[in-house]
Amino acid sequence: MSTTPKEEKLGIMPQLFAGHFDHDLIFPYPKMNSDEAETVAMLLDSFGELAKRKIDSVKMDLAHETPPELIKDLFELGLMGLSIPEEYGGAGLSMTAYCKVMEAVGRHDASLAVTVGGHQSIGMKAILLFGNEEQKNKYLPQCADGRRIAAYALTEAEAGSDAGSIKTRAVYNPEKKTFTLNGSKLWITNGAIAGVFTVFAKEEMAGKDVITALIVDGESPGLTRGKPELKMGIRASNTTELNFENVEVPEANVLGERGKGFKVALEVLDYGRLSLGAGCAGGIKELMGLAIAHAKQRKQFGAPISDLEMIRGKIAEMAVDSWVCDSMVYLSTSLVDRAVTDFSIESAICKAYCSESLWRDCNHAMQIVGGIGYMAEYPYERLMRDSRINMIFEGTNEIQRLYITLAGLKRPGDALKAMQKRGGVGALVEYGAHTMKMRLVANHLEGAHPSLAWHVDRLEEATKAFSIAVDKLLVAHGKKVMRMGFLQERVAETAMLLYGMVATLSRLDTLLKQRGPEACAYEADLTKAFFASAWRAIRKQLALLERNGDQRALRIAEGTIEREGFKVLE
Ligand SMILES: Cc1cc2nc3c(=O)[nH]c(=O)nc-3n(C[C@H](O)[C@H](O)[C@H](O)COP(=O)(O)OP(=O)(O)OC[C@H]3O[C@@H](n4cnc5c(N)ncnc54)[C@H](O)[C@@H]3O)c2cc1C
Repeated sequence: MSTTPKEEKLGIMPQLFAGHFDHDLIFPYPKMNSDEAETVAMLLDSFGELAKRKIDSVKMDLAHETPPELIKDLFELGLMGLSIPEEYGGAGLSMTAYCKVMEAVGRHDASLAVTVGGHQSIGMKAILLFGNEEQKNKYLPQCADGRRIAAYALTEAEAGSDAGSIKTRAVYNPEKKTFTLNGSKLWITNGAIAGVFTVFAKEEMAGKDVITALIVDGESPGLTRGKPELKMGIRASNTTELNFENVEVPEANVLGERGKGFKVALEVLDYGRLSLGAGCAGGIKELMGLAIAHAKQRKQFGAPISDLEMIRGKIAEMAVDSWVCDSMVYLSTSLVDRAVTDFSIESAICKAYCSESLWRDCNHAMQIVGGIGYMAEYPYERLMRDSRINMIFEGTNEIQRLYITLAGLKRPGDALKAMQKRGGVGALVEYGAHTMKMRLVANHLEGAHPSLAWHVDRLEEATKAFSIAVDKLLVAHGKKVMRMGFLQERVAETAMLLYGMVATLSRLDTLLKQRGPEACAYEADLTKAFFASAWRAIRKQLALLERNGDQRALRIAEGTIEREGFKVLE
C-alpha cells in the first residue's frame, strides 16, 4: 500500500463532477494479486476457525464487553496489524486486502469490527500515515503485537460534526519541550482499553488557534477514562470518555506538523470510512444469508415464503444493494492501492451509501422473517441495533453528503473563479463555452463490452446532465451553496448513484470480457436493475434542483420549531 504518495492523483469522482471519465481508473475492475489473495484466504480461514470456537456475539452483546482473551487471540492471528508494514511487525496488506478482512469481521460481529477498526482503521492510522521513523518504530510494532491497542480521540461534548471547534488544549512549554494537555473527549472507541491515543487538541500559534495531532501514551499521568457507555448497539465495543488533566506530552509526539492536525484527522477518516463501508457490505451479505435460509424453510399457506413475490422482491433488492456496495467499496480501495491521493469523495460515498443500504436491508430481513426478527433469541434485532451507528459515527451521513458536494464542486468552482478573476467581457460566456466543449469532446466512456451499450448511454447521459447542473448551480449560487442543505443533498445523492453506476459497470464489464455474457447473466441483471433505478432517481434529483418545494418545507420546519411540536388549529 502506498501510504504517503507525493504526486497529486485524483480519484474518479472529482473528475466525474466535471463530466470526465478516468478510463484508466475505471477499467478493468481491479483484482487483488494472487499472493495477497492467498494471504487473505488464509487469514479468513484462521478468523473463521477462531469465530467458531470463541466468538459468542449473543454473550458479548449481553455482557457489553469483548473478552480481553478474544482481543489477544486477534492479535495472535495478526488481525490487529494487517495494514502495518512488515518492517514494523504487521502484515503489510493493501487497502483492498485489509478491507476484505474487515468485511469478514463485520459480517461476523459488528462490535468486534468496531474494536478492530477503532484500533487500526483510525486509532493508529495517523502514526502510519504521518508518523516519523522514530514514532513508527516505537508504536507500530506494539500496535501489531498486542502490547498496545490504539484509539482515535477527536469528538468532544461540544464538538461533534463541527470537529474544528474542539476545546481540548495543548500548551507548549519551550524549556521542557513538552505540551500540557487539558480537556475531555467523548465517546472514544477503545477508550478504556487503549494503550495509545491519537489526540487532537487546539494550541495557539502566532496568535491563532490551530489544531495539532498528538500521540498520547495510555499510561500518561493525568489521563483518566470514564465508565463504558451503555449503548443501543455494538455493545461489546468499548466506548468511553477521556479526561486530560495537565497531561504532559513530549514534543516528539506531534504527528505531522504542528498546527496541521485537522488535515491529519480528516485524512485518517478517509481510510476509516472505506473499512466502515466494507464492514457494512459484509453485514448485508450476512443478513441475506440468514433471511434466505429462513424464507426457504418457513412455510405459510402451504408453501415456503421464499416462493412469494413480495418476499422475493425484498431479496432481489438486498442482492442489488450487495452488488452495488461490494463493487463501490473495492473499486474505492483499489484507488488507495493505486496511489490515488484524493479518494475522499469515494470514501464518503462508500460510508454513506453502504451504511444506508445495510439499514434498509436490516429492515428487509426483519420483514422477511416476521415476528422472530423481533425476538432477542434471534440475531436480527441485534444486527439492526448494531447497524444503526454506521450512519452516525466517523462523520454523520449528512456530513458525508455535505462533503461530497462541496469537495466535488471545488474544481469546477475553481475553474469558474479563475475565469471570473480574469474578468473582462464575457467571463461567464467563456466559462459556458469551455464547459460545453469539455462535455461534447470528453464525455464518452470508451472501451466497454458491446453488450453494455445501453448502460454506457445512461451513464454518459446522466453524467452530462449532472455536470451541466453542477455548472448551473455554481453560476447561480456561488459560495451560497455552502449553506444550501437541500441542494447539497441532491448533488450528493446524484453523485452517489453515478459512482454506483461506474463501479457496477466496471465490474460487469470486466466479468463479461473474462467469462462471456452467458456466464454473467445474474450479474448483468443486478447491474441493469441498479442502472434502471439509479437513472430514475438521478432524473428526479436533477429535476428537483430546478423545481422543488424547499421554501415550503423550510416554512413548515420553521412553524413547527416555533410551535415546539405538532400544534394545529382545531
Ligand atoms: C458508539 C460511538 C463511537 C464513537 N467513536 C468515536 C471515536 O472513536 N472517536 C471519536 O473521535 N469520535 C467517536 N464518536 C463520535 C462520533 O464521531 C460523533 O457522534 C459524530 O461525528 C456526530 O457528532 P454528534 O454526535 O455530536 O452529532 P451532532 O454533530 O450534534 O449532529 C446532530 C445532527 O445534526 C446534523 N448536522 C450537524 N451539522 C450539520 C451540517 N453542517 N449539515 C447538515 N447536518 C448537520 C448531523 O448530521 C446530525 O444529524 C463515536 C460516537 C458513537 C456514538
